[in-house]
Amino acid sequence: MRRRGANLPAIGGFNQALVFDIVRRASSGVSRTEIAAQTDLSAQTISNVTRRLLDDGLVREGDKVSSGPGKPRTRLHLVPDARLAVGIHLDPARITYSIVDLVGRVIARRATPTPRGQAPKDVEESMIATTRALIEDNEVSQDRIIGIGIAAPGPVDIARGSVNDPPLLPGWNDVPLRDALAEAFEVPTVLAKDVASATVGELWAGGQDAVGDLAVVYIGSGIGLGIALDHTVLHGATSNLGDIGHLRVSAEGPVCSCGQRGCLGVNVSPARIVNLAADQGVGKAVAETDHARVADAFTALCRHADDDADARALLDDAAADIAQGITVVANMLDVATIVMSGPIWADAARHMLDGVRSRVAASRADALPHPLDVVNSALGPDAASVGAGCQALESAFARGEASPFAARLP
Ligand SMILES: [Zn+2]
Repeated sequence: MRRRGANLPAIGGFNQALVFDIVRRASSGVSRTEIAAQTDLSAQTISNVTRRLLDDGLVREGDKVSSGPGKPRTRLHLVPDARLAVGIHLDPARITYSIVDLVGRVIARRATPTPRGQAPKDVEESMIATTRALIEDNEVSQDRIIGIGIAAPGPVDIARGSVNDPPLLPGWNDVPLRDALAEAFEVPTVLAKDVASATVGELWAGGQDAVGDLAVVYIGSGIGLGIALDHTVLHGATSNLGDIGHLRVSAEGPVCSCGQRGCLGVNVSPARIVNLAADQGVGKAVAETDHARVADAFTALCRHADDDADARALLDDAAADIAQGITVVANMLDVATIVMSGPIWADAARHMLDGVRSRVAASRADALPHPLDVVNSALGPDAASVGAGCQALESAFARGEASPFAARLP
């Protein structure tokens, strides 16, 4: 892909972001000549820009490599830990924190149960304290942190950086979470819907950048869908894209708040599954609003299912409903890859992935002219918080009219 740059000093920051992005994506390094071939930049501009990146410690020079005639070329490599970002995922069950480097690799992480019944203001305070502790305990210099990303359940208001009454987080009505973190740490902070963050994470750190067209089915306390088409994560008119909870996947199931039966969100909710298991004598019933206990009970159920066919059958019913939803999504979007993600899925994947795959394959045998891959996220249960960190990095690059790094590093 050829990318445009500009050979004007006034927009050097944009060129710096462009060249840096090319180096970042080149896992085995890239020479200045190769950068020139991928952009419209002159040799002199590339020389200036790379000098700046070298001075800032963001890239390093590697060995000289000979390829054919001409003098050997020095390859430029990313210095992944030159800058870091913090990702925070607010889930109704747990709040997860990740510090990631420039390729989205996790440097440090922490998770705490989401307090029940506490005022959002108090939860904000504890999020700030936990973030500060994570940074200090890992001896990360705050100068290296270029941003914070927050992943929150929808609805969110991106412009205001607020959480707007998510169904599973009572009391979180119009809470300006982004600004609270931004003021505490004095770094650029972004807030996005959790599925969007998880999708950014798949492109940056989950190995899906080469695919580019994918859907992420995210299963935590709730279920949601993230979409990337042509390497771009979609957000929707109000940045709340991806609510698939009311997709009707079955004629059976409890009545949903929307009035119909068989809604995906209700049928595969971890609260419903652990309570169905309790009805069968496996584990104890759990209040469905106690999301932390539901998550723990679900983990226990998945362990139990290793040796119990009845428990596996319950999970397989959920796999059938998920497969039905995936088939609709894949046909609608023409994506070649569905990434299964989220903490609940991470627990259940060993029992459910095969069941999802076989049903998807059977149901859409000749619907699309290409095979559909259903894969587990490589990012594990922390995918949304890692993705939030990646979102902070992406946002730093998007501020490309000036170098994302210039504000901190004159
Ligand atoms: Zn519904």
